[in-house]
Amino acid sequence: TRSGLDQLQLGNRFAELPASFYTRVQPQPLKNPRLVALSPDAAALIGLDPCQVSEQQLVEYFGGQRLPDGSDPLATVYAGHQFGGYTAQLGDGRALLLGDLPGSDGQRWELQLKGSGKTPYSRHGDGRAALRSVIREYLGSEALAALGVPTTRALCIVGSDTQICRDSIESAASMVRLSPSHIRFGHFEYFYYSRQPDLLKQLADFVIRHHYPHCAEAVNPYLAMYTEVLERTAKLIAQWQALGFCHGVMNTDNMSILGLTLDYGPFAFLDGYQPDFTSNRTDEHGRYAYHQQPSVALWNCVCLAQSLTGLVKQADLESSLSRFESVYVVAYTEQMKQRLGMAGKERQDGALIEGLLQLLQQVNADYHCAFLTLEQAVAGEVEPFIALLGDSPQAGDWLNQYLSRINSDAMIQMKQHNPRVVLRSYLTQQVIEQAGEGDFSGLVKLHDAVRTPFKERSDIYAQPPPEGDKNRSLSCSS
Ligand code: AMP
Ligand code: MG
Ligand code: MG
Repeated sequence: TRSGLDQLQLGNRFAELPASFYTRVQPQPLKNPRLVALSPDAAALIGLDPCQVSEQQLVEYFGGQRLPDGSDPLATVYAGHQFGGYTAQLGDGRALLLGDLPGSDGQRWELQLKGSGKTPYSRHGDGRAALRSVIREYLGSEALAALGVPTTRALCIVGSDTQICRDSIESAASMVRLSPSHIRFGHFEYFYYSRQPDLLKQLADFVIRHHYPHCAEAVNPYLAMYTEVLERTAKLIAQWQALGFCHGVMNTDNMSILGLTLDYGPFAFLDGYQPDFTSNRTDEHGRYAYHQQPSVALWNCVCLAQSLTGLVKQADLESSLSRFESVYVVAYTEQMKQRLGMAGKERQDGALIEGLLQLLQQVNADYHCAFLTLEQAVAGEVEPFIALLGDSPQAGDWLNQYLSRINSDAMIQMKQHNPRVVLRSYLTQQVIEQAGEGDFSGLVKLHDAVRTPFKERSDIYAQPPPEGDKNRSLSCSS
């Protein structure tokens, strides 16, 4: 393990790519930086002992004053389909890739500093991140990681007195994000639509060499890579759906080439089960509503396929694409059966899952509490489930069918797959307000709760939100 940040020695594999992939940029220091949060779990990934790392060092290195040894900060260029329309040039407009280093498991982790100031890709923005938005990303990514969902990670947040203008004047902060790679579908689209096939091929070769090395042996390595990206994406979305997670901005520039949850903006976990819930307030047409996520992910995979048409035969891409739905359905059904404690395979399983969701939708029942009340029903106490669903005859019928479907070890499986704690948006909002006043204790407590989501508890973190705080959508400005 590394006891201090001065022991970090960074490389930068991305900098092996030609200069057209990025621009070198130095971070801009924040005013009066202070440590807001440090994730012990993320620290462990890169071999840092959270008890030994000094606050002073964290603030210096990640408030933009100093750079870790070997760091070669750069902003990368990408493009992307945003709300269905193509934007020819985007890029790291408020993040810098500092470099990468070997983690405790031997794989290399990239360190990205978010909110470190303007880059050539900032366009209209200031390159800063609001404290509010990095707290959301920090909690969101650490919560999904604890639930076993592939995601980028959040190492730490540094707050400051630097002022920025969003919906109002707010304070700026930075966050260190960790990921094996921050490459997006949009990186591929950029080189495809700007007609730079040689660079596109170099990008694909880079991704295969560092992230899909086994694909190099395939008859067509690019097809093998694409197929794996598609499968990982379908399985990721299956986990989101089963857990009631809404990403909020599934533009192709926010889609990870590693199938990770990436770029946490106006995301939310469902409270009440409302399939057309749209967590992003500015998404008027509900393009990225909860129930649209699987089909939008497929649409995004079509965009990625299009950008690979110079490297893979169209028929092969189409045949990969045709598998998306079945990969998704198999993964989703599996996740839901685990949450319901349904072992083995029976003909009516799909209908049973669908039946439950319909009941929940009818009364906008809390999605997460539904599974916990089912655990109680399995233990012989059916009232909480019936109360949640408003004592309808259909609910009773469904419950009887369900109880006759499962067997005695259902409970063990359910406890392993039904989180006691999900990151409720209203709780996130509360800790953001406290943090704005300089009090980070609520943030630490909420983070602690979402770090161990399967631990039994009955406090506020395991409860549904108060009536007026359910399924509220969020502003996209960050
Ligand atoms: P996002 O909505 O966070 O996925 O960002 C979309 C694009 O806008 C990305 O290229 C970002 O780098 C850029 N961007 C977002 N916020 C800012 C900001 N405050 N300053 C500069 N660029 C930004
Ligand atoms: Mg350059
Ligand atoms: Mg983004």
